Amino acid sequence: MKLNAKWWALAALVVAVGLFQALGGSQYLSLEAIKNSQAALQSATAAQPLLAAAVYFVVYVLATALSLPGATVITLVGGALFGLGWGLLIVSFASSLGATLAFLASRWLLRDTVQARFGDKLAALNEGVKKDGAFYLFGLRLVPLFPFFMINLAMGLTPIRPWTFYWVSQVGMLAGTAVYVNAGTQLAQINSLSGLASPSLIAAFALLGVFPLLARKLMDALQARKVYRGFAKPKTFDRNLVVIGGGAAGLVTSYIAAAVKAKVTLVEKHKLGGDCLNTGCVPSKALIRSAKFVAQVKKSPDWGIARAHAEFDFAEVMGRVHRVIGQIEPHDSAERYRGLGVDVVQGAARIVSPWEVEITHDDGTVQSLTTRAIVIAAGARPFVPPIPGLDQVEVLTSDSLWSLKTLPRRLLVLGGGPIGSELTQAFNRLGSQVTQVEMAPRLLAREDADVSEAVMQRFAQEGVDVRVGHAAKRVVVEGGEKFLVAEHQGQEVRIAFDQILVAVGRQANLQGYGLQELGVTTGRTVEVNGYLQTNFPNIYAAGDVAGPYQFTHTAAHQAWYAAVNALFDPIKKFKADYRVIPWATFVDPEVARVGLNEQEAQAQGVPYEVTRYGIDDLDRAIADGTAHGFVKVLTVPGKDKILGVTIVGDHAGDLLAEYVLAMKHGLGLNKILGTIHTYPTLAEANKYAAGEWKRAHAPQGLLRWVQRFHAWRRGA
Ligand SMILES: Cc1cc2nc3c(=O)[nH]c(=O)nc-3n(C[C@H](O)[C@H](O)[C@H](O)COP(=O)(O)OP(=O)(O)OC[C@H]3O[C@@H](n4cnc5c(N)ncnc54)[C@H](O)[C@@H]3O)c2cc1C
Repeated sequence: MKLNAKWWALAALVVAVGLFQALGGSQYLSLEAIKNSQAALQSATAAQPLLAAAVYFVVYVLATALSLPGATVITLVGGALFGLGWGLLIVSFASSLGATLAFLASRWLLRDTVQARFGDKLAALNEGVKKDGAFYLFGLRLVPLFPFFMINLAMGLTPIRPWTFYWVSQVGMLAGTAVYVNAGTQLAQINSLSGLASPSLIAAFALLGVFPLLARKLMDALQARKVYRGFAKPKTFDRNLVVIGGGAAGLVTSYIAAAVKAKVTLVEKHKLGGDCLNTGCVPSKALIRSAKFVAQVKKSPDWGIARAHAEFDFAEVMGRVHRVIGQIEPHDSAERYRGLGVDVVQGAARIVSPWEVEITHDDGTVQSLTTRAIVIAAGARPFVPPIPGLDQVEVLTSDSLWSLKTLPRRLLVLGGGPIGSELTQAFNRLGSQVTQVEMAPRLLAREDADVSEAVMQRFAQEGVDVRVGHAAKRVVVEGGEKFLVAEHQGQEVRIAFDQILVAVGRQANLQGYGLQELGVTTGRTVEVNGYLQTNFPNIYAAGDVAGPYQFTHTAAHQAWYAAVNALFDPIKKFKADYRVIPWATFVDPEVARVGLNEQEAQAQGVPYEVTRYGIDDLDRAIADGTAHGFVKVLTVPGKDKILGVTIVGDHAGDLLAEYVLAMKHGLGLNKILGTIHTYPTLAEANKYAAGEWKRAHAPQGLLRWVQRFHAWRRGA
């Protein structure tokens, strides 16, 4: 309904302007016509000056609000009729008001459509306008080269505030208006509009226009330099770059730096490879694989194997986990990185000045390095909330878990996010009796409700005791037995356990290496701008320590930007691009997502259509005994442009890659449908989802005609 009203209004506007042109309206606004009627207009104005001013004001507002051509001529008339002083006053208000009306009309009629269609491409522009919109507008207004009506309409499509638009327009147009109103006082001598503003005047205006923006940029630069006050900048540097932390972010940063021949030192205080290799992705995925094997053996009749039995020792499963880490370790080893040209140093780094890092080696010796730039890649650690009584029991986290030798009998997992859910299912499958406690009403709350439902159903089938809507209050130990007391629907519930694994989130490592002493701005993470710069422009941060995502692939992605910006600013720097970020949660069924899901689209007010394909229908999934889950694609209404995809099912993380590529390179569902997918593979699910979309968007009218055509060919 709303859309219809807008289209009607737009059509009415186009018709009105078209009629004005068709009926020769613009000829009344030509220089010649105005000069011919100058005498009559002047005598009418002399007779009734107030009425003349009011009529002139209304005509001016209407002409500019409707974006009719002739604003320059009307301005000249203002000078001819009212003189420089009054003319300038009237024209200044009338043109600003008319411009604002045109701006509001463009915003109401077109902005939603334009932003929905090109929003992702306009993101940087929107951001720029939000920050510096007044300066841009001021510059545009001062330079009479930019058509007045175009600025009004274009600005209406941006996020600039109407009041800002109004007053900046009024101030910005004042000088140009004065020139034209003044020229109007000599209307009889004017023979053409083009010569009114000389090139030198336009150039002067242009300079005046860009001056405030330049001044603002200069102020920003000076502000940024202010943080360095009190620090002596070395004349020469030992390194181009020092990187603190040898996890995914630090390794990739130093690798890129070495690849472009910079002198780079990578400092790691614990183990190269960081969380992902040693306590995160790698061990968890290895454990999940063993647990999946056990789960499959238990369900052997599903594959036509009447009896199969998995006999195992948990310590051996953990042994395999460590062997897997060992096998991958060489990828992240000091030897490999030294071979690539990185100076790898084992020790704890501390930033002592914006250009100096102190490294305490394991043997206690201290080394000091001066450096042009620093990248902080110090990662994050598990957050253990201050729950009363928790200190009475041994708390397992994703850091300490991997040294377990015996399987916990009753394991309580606190946290229903990705890490908590992955470990819940793995331990449950290996034989622990797992209770998973989550405060929110469902697991994996960032995903859509149908995704949580699929995972929770499977957990329940496998015997996990999932307690959602339970807020942990305290831990008590009574008679040697441990309990978590949680609040559920206003009641206290006691849950017995032998061991507790806390997985309620991860907090950035911000303490103990000089950030506070130096004055690096931090909140929950190190605060960085789009270029990953901290408030010290030569100090950057990437990975979990900077956020906003906490994945290995986003850490590596940011690392590229941090390295390149740290080494090449101010010659060239790049804004980190977060438009297409995929991730997966490796529960069974796997959950993978890129872009928006439904709850995010609704929260952001993004219109969308949903296409769903059930993997229970897929030949390969049926053959594999994994016929469950779905592919859910969100698209722009009426278009095949992909806004986001969620896949639930076996190998969802791998299947997602096709959609990640499509979104990154702007390929729509038609392109996926037109691509041959190998039969029989799980990847066909992607194509079938595209097929579902196509079926729902088949051109019914055209098909009816084609049906008639076939009937005619049959002679029917
Ligand atoms: C159980 C679990 C499972 C996960 N699974 C996945 C997954 O499947 N996929 C995925 O993408 N992500 C996963 N993650 C997240 C992933 O591990 C992190 O996002 C990634 O490791 C972040 O890399 P980073 O380089 O920012 O930090 P880290 O890997 O934490 O590296 C930081 C390094 O800095 C060092 N350091 C800190 N301070 C100093 C100092 N002052 N001097 C010297 N060195 C210092 C630390 O010792 C550490 O080695 C998982 C995490 C966990 C805990």
